[in-house]
Amino acid sequence: MIALLLSCPSLSINIAGNVGVSENMQYNRNHYVDIVCDHCGKLYVMHVNKDDLNDFFRNEKMCIEAMPYLEPGERELLLSKTCGDCFDKLFGTGEDNET
Ligand SMILES: [Zn+2]
Repeated sequence: MIALLLSCPSLSINIAGNVGVSENMQYNRNHYVDIVCDHCGKLYVMHVNKDDLNDFFRNEKMCIEAMPYLEPGERELLLSKTCGDCFDKLFGTGEDNET
């Protein structure tokens, strides 16, 4: 659908009227969450959709399902209160563990 929009700019107006709205609704990031990393104490602010966040908190969806637009590091913060930097320090890159 995105490819179609890109390759057919003349069609994008009609398509955006139908499909674009629902996509925007889905990714309507209308809520800020601030989470402090448990390890380094740094404050991170994430821009999410409040309904998506509620779905996740109610365990109705997995984090990646509820908020696929988040960076992996942001999801990790939500899941374990560990930021990307600390995650790398705690668990390493994995490159040395391939024995
Ligand atoms: Zn951290």
